[in-house]
Amino acid sequence: MIYNKLPYDVIVCGAGHAGVEAALAASRMGASTLLLTGNIDTIAQMSCNPAIGGQAKGQIVREIDALGGEMAINTDLTGIQFRLLNESRGPAVQSPRAQCDKKAYQYRLKHTLELQPNLQIFQAMVTGLIYKADRVVAVKTNLDIEFQGHSIVVTTGTFLRGLMHIGKNKNEGGRLGDFSAKTLSASFLEVGIELQRLKTGTPPRLLGRSLDFSKMQEQRGDPEPTLFAFHDTRDSGDLFHVEQTGERRLGWTPGTDQVSCWMTHTTAETAHIVSANLKRSALYGGEIEGVGPRYCPSIEDKIVRFADKPRHLLYLEPEGRSTNEYYVNGLSTSLPFDVQLDMVHSVPGLENAQLLRPAYAVEYDFAQPTQLFPTLESKKIENLFFAGQINGTSGYEEAATQGLIAGVNAVQKARGEEPLIIKRHEGYSGVLIDDLVTKGTNEPYRMFTSRAEHRLLFNHASAEFRLIDHAKTHKLLSSNRITNIESKIKAVKHWQEWLENHRHEGKSWGEHIRRGESVDILPLDFQKLDKATRDETAYRVKYQGYLQREQRQIDRAGNMDLIKIPKKFDFLAIKGLRRESAQKLTAFMPLNLGQASRISGVNPADISVLMIHIAASKRDSREPGP
Ligand SMILES: Cc1cc2nc3c(=O)[nH]c(=O)nc-3n(C[C@H](O)[C@H](O)[C@H](O)COP(=O)(O)OP(=O)(O)OC[C@H]3O[C@@H](n4cnc5c(N)ncnc54)[C@H](O)[C@@H]3O)c2cc1C
Repeated sequence: MIYNKLPYDVIVCGAGHAGVEAALAASRMGASTLLLTGNIDTIAQMSCNPAIGGQAKGQIVREIDALGGEMAINTDLTGIQFRLLNESRGPAVQSPRAQCDKKAYQYRLKHTLELQPNLQIFQAMVTGLIYKADRVVAVKTNLDIEFQGHSIVVTTGTFLRGLMHIGKNKNEGGRLGDFSAKTLSASFLEVGIELQRLKTGTPPRLLGRSLDFSKMQEQRGDPEPTLFAFHDTRDSGDLFHVEQTGERRLGWTPGTDQVSCWMTHTTAETAHIVSANLKRSALYGGEIEGVGPRYCPSIEDKIVRFADKPRHLLYLEPEGRSTNEYYVNGLSTSLPFDVQLDMVHSVPGLENAQLLRPAYAVEYDFAQPTQLFPTLESKKIENLFFAGQINGTSGYEEAATQGLIAGVNAVQKARGEEPLIIKRHEGYSGVLIDDLVTKGTNEPYRMFTSRAEHRLLFNHASAEFRLIDHAKTHKLLSSNRITNIESKIKAVKHWQEWLENHRHEGKSWGEHIRRGESVDILPLDFQKLDKATRDETAYRVKYQGYLQREQRQIDRAGNMDLIKIPKKFDFLAIKGLRRESAQKLTAFMPLNLGQASRISGVNPADISVLMIHIAASKRDSREPGP
């Protein structure tokens, strides 16, 4: 049965972190949107740790907020502990992080989706896609209901042929207690979209009342919490989405009444237990074929790779305010359950711990993201978009920003309008997508500050300034908010100039700041500005030299992005281009010279040859025919 006579503008398959942002972005842009998901009760479930943000990821959440997404607001309103990481280091690498109430996080997002105009939510498992020529036109579900759409966004996370491992024990599913999407993969393979296997793991969950916190070190939240949303989520008068009425709040004011995490560590006994049982680990016993996350290693990995380390730090993180369940950050494993029990009980404070859920590893299909344009649309199948873990990434934040961008681009494609492409120098979201589509990945990709060549520009507080042009072009923010940001930009510019042009004790105020003198000596009018404007101005003044150098590099590199490569350009026909490069360029189909230069294996000499031929081909195509 076909459910809808008129196709939806956008259909999103899967309501994880990517799916909810995709569906919200599309429907907030006024597109008729359908969100299909296997289980409505697991919308935006945090499959792993109950935390949002952290290094580089915290900046991504602020970028999502700057583009009208929901993750920042949702984190503020359901966060139970807030910490600014790297507080003692420079602002560029400071990142907000929050523990969230896992269930509150899900329910608030579910409710946000329910209240969203233009959006329909429906519980069904997508079993396949329907194509016409090289386009996707509809989706099939396990209920024998089909839905037609102009653009389809697939955000199925770890569910494609998901297989979970606990030692030799195997269960099908995308995560514990969930289903495995077994037939959708075939629908991709059928049209030539290639799939590979990856894996990831999660630690056990423990019952709080069975733990001895007196043997652990307490880690409290910051007394002055750094929230994620740019508008103050504590001020009901200034709230944007469902919080506008105030009555939708979840019972506490963001940033107050924070709960603690607890630190403990593994012991020599833990290391011994793990080493003695390595062969029984799904990871080390050869049960899993997929590649795992190098940067989020399992305890087996840590014990093997860092054999000289006497102990490894563990964090006990509460899963919520009204549950006694704790997540053991640092103890991810695929060892059998009996070994897990011994391992947990070898840790100070966990001697009598009761396990509520076992640790496990999951392996799943992903689609190599080099098969996508930077819009996240498939190069093979028109109108088909991919976002989130299906693209080989790992992490809620990485998934959410891809979802938002895919959602916007799905609408733009349905409307035949300009896509949203964030450049590498504009934010981590731009770096993420550019890395994925030009380099691909062979292990779960997570974001780090070191992946961004212009990370000095990516201090978390400047996300609104960096992305305002995109927000305006695609109408992603309310006009009030745009006006607000523009006046902040104006104020920062004004004060930057003012501090350089006014002197105090023989030096400009700017020089005083650069010499590391306290901002408390600055004029009273400056002190009276709101904290965000003050901090951003001081940052720009203090690092002026570095920021200007970054800008010069961007201007130079930016010119390459402006040189477009004609569609269906025949790289293999170019004399002087190395065969290997020509093949890679043919496979990747870069849209411009900048993108071509970032494909691994394509060197500067290839780019010079390419530049000459593109110029010649453009000249030829302008010449009148005979
Ligand atoms: C065991 C495990 C451990 C992890 N460990 C970490 C970690 O340590 N650090 C980290 O950063 N990240 C970790 N992650 C990854 C993190 O959970 C994901 O990166 C993130 O949730 C991906 O978001 P997503 O939206 O792409 O997919 P998901 O959050 O997986 O959501 C997928 C959604 O799609 C729905 N769905 C799937 N198939 C279908 C279908 N056929 N039809 C309809 N709906 C469908 C599901 O119901 C779900 O709602 C882990 C994940 C798992 C499962």
